[in-house]
Amino acid sequence: MEDTMKRIQSTCNFCAIDCNLDFCVENGRIVRTIPTKGYPVNDGFSCIKGLSLSKQQTTVKPDALPKIRQADGTMKEVSWEEGFQHVADKLKELQAKYGTESVAGISTGQLTLEEFAIFGHVMRNYLQTNVDGNTRLCMATAAVGHKQTYGYDAPGYTLKDLELSDTIIFIGANPVVAHPIVWGRVRQNKVPGHKIIVIDPRKSETAMNADYWYGLKPRSDLKLMYTIANMLIEKDWIDHKFIEEHTNKFDEFAAFVKDFTLEKGVEATGLSAEQITELVNLIHNGKAVSFWWTMGVNQGYEAVRTAQSIINLALMTGNIGKPGTGGNSITGQCNAMASRLFSNTTCLFGGGDFTDENERARIAELTGIDVDHVAKKPTIPYNMIVEGINAGKIKGLWILCTNPRHSWTNNETFAEATKKLDLFVVQDIYDNIESAENATVYLPVVPGIKKEGTYINLERRLSALRQVLPRGENEISDYECILGVAKALGMGKAIEKWETPRMCFDMLREISKGKPCDFSGVKWDELTGSHGRQWPYPEGREAEFADEERRLYADGKFFTPNQRANFMFEEPLPNPYVPNEEFPIVFNTGRGTVGQWHTQSRTKEVKFVEDVSLSKAYLYMNTKQAEENGIREMDQIRVYSVNGQNADFFVKITDNVPYNQLFAPIHYIECNKLTPSNYDKYSKEPNYKGGICRFEKI
Ligand code: SF4
Repeated sequence: MEDTMKRIQSTCNFCAIDCNLDFCVENGRIVRTIPTKGYPVNDGFSCIKGLSLSKQQTTVKPDALPKIRQADGTMKEVSWEEGFQHVADKLKELQAKYGTESVAGISTGQLTLEEFAIFGHVMRNYLQTNVDGNTRLCMATAAVGHKQTYGYDAPGYTLKDLELSDTIIFIGANPVVAHPIVWGRVRQNKVPGHKIIVIDPRKSETAMNADYWYGLKPRSDLKLMYTIANMLIEKDWIDHKFIEEHTNKFDEFAAFVKDFTLEKGVEATGLSAEQITELVNLIHNGKAVSFWWTMGVNQGYEAVRTAQSIINLALMTGNIGKPGTGGNSITGQCNAMASRLFSNTTCLFGGGDFTDENERARIAELTGIDVDHVAKKPTIPYNMIVEGINAGKIKGLWILCTNPRHSWTNNETFAEATKKLDLFVVQDIYDNIESAENATVYLPVVPGIKKEGTYINLERRLSALRQVLPRGENEISDYECILGVAKALGMGKAIEKWETPRMCFDMLREISKGKPCDFSGVKWDELTGSHGRQWPYPEGREAEFADEERRLYADGKFFTPNQRANFMFEEPLPNPYVPNEEFPIVFNTGRGTVGQWHTQSRTKEVKFVEDVSLSKAYLYMNTKQAEENGIREMDQIRVYSVNGQNADFFVKITDNVPYNQLFAPIHYIECNKLTPSNYDKYSKEPNYKGGICRFEKI
């Protein structure tokens, strides 16, 4: 390598794996991207998305300035000072006129830890209003499930467990496409005779590569888990010692699942008695059984209880806290874990309770704000923000690094909302995302390769985002943008401790002290170019926590008041969208290809996507269904959804989608035009995968 070339290690800011990458920079340009060798997560590997991050050098407009909508409808470029003042003045004006909660924010699991925190400080503390994140769309279910079961939102596993498990069970998860590094770790599993099992209505790419695939009826997963639990208890294939010493409410749970007989399980799931029995046997015969779920579970109408029904199986068989085990949630976005604990939305910074006076006083002192200005209650959830705008109660919205016009469920409701706002601030690296169409203010910020901060991945590992490229004269980060508005609001002393991401990081380290997520021992400089660090990592006890791949719950102690995990269960609810005469087909959704990311605003950065995916919306249809309707490959159909909307899709024909289902990739705006406004009652996560529809050939 030439002397002039610098090699800078940073973190990929697409998915929750948080791969580390070495960027080779020459003359202010990235000339090569190499997955970091020896990094415990991805050790020299990555997917095409990370390798393509350098494309942001050309796809993101350099040196952009804010724009403000004028009376004639045009957008006018203004200075940063003018942009900050305009946003601050409008926020204050709307609050004065319509009340404190007439303005709101929507943040995202794509920002850095420090950026969530400062946004939560400005909006939730200082302005005392509501902010939710697009984490609500993917991980809210896991977060609520963990809190109720473990007493804290603490996924206990480490990715190494994928290599140590002899029975790996994926439920509603398709890592081959969605989490390629997770799948890579599975492929590195050297345990003799290990088995890969997939439970999914669709024969996904992961199911195709598994040893066993259980193609159950959509939304019958909760009943399947209860049936399995009942059979394990009946056969006495449970870990009595672990249950006795480390759990609560097992006897009630055992009595509850008694009614979930094999016969009923067969009827509910569409699986045969032999299949369910085989699955129960596989769980029993495994010495280190791990259960892994993601969006197929999280995005349902009774998702929290379903996630917990999976954890129940891990608890009752003692498959938790030991190598290769766990009831494990695979997170979606690069920093979803940080947003769950440090965005000041559903909990105080670090997972505290809004009603805990001692914690409020501590937060006030550490963040420099008056205690009366520490947020007093959890935010209203995402759906209530959108509904609040449509009802005329919320007049101002500030969205950051997210594209709800595309990603929100039943997304026409968001389109409608944007037309009703007096202030609609869109802060993003691109000004052409669908959500920006009706923006009244656009704030251009730099991409991850030009900023610094911290991410926390799916296994609780903090890793460093470090600035790879120099910035142009007008270029600022999300952090600096929020700080600019904060100063224009006149926050004064309340923002003095927040001058840089590094100061914010140190503040959060201090806040985390004594909590399950304690990362006070992680130092900013030490994180740079490191192997990352999983929480907990308390200051003064570094030697105790030196192992680079650690799991929680090895001692059988959880975060509930009596340190025991709770068996959580409930009578399954009736499915709100059962296929019927008018809408006979299930409308399932999910990730399309490994190169595509969410709403595709950043897909333009990813090489080869055009070669492997379509530019227009498409979906998958079963071969028999297509034949019966005279549909050939790449014919177009119009799909009518139960939510009253319709959209057109090209058809790809496959036997991997069941006869009475369609499967639509989420990367096209048409997909969430058709998903319903229906939510899990605890997590308020949308039931994205639960719609029903009919179709006609165009
Ligand atoms: S998208 Fe995920 S798997 Fe791909 S490089 Fe980035 S962090 Fe790694």
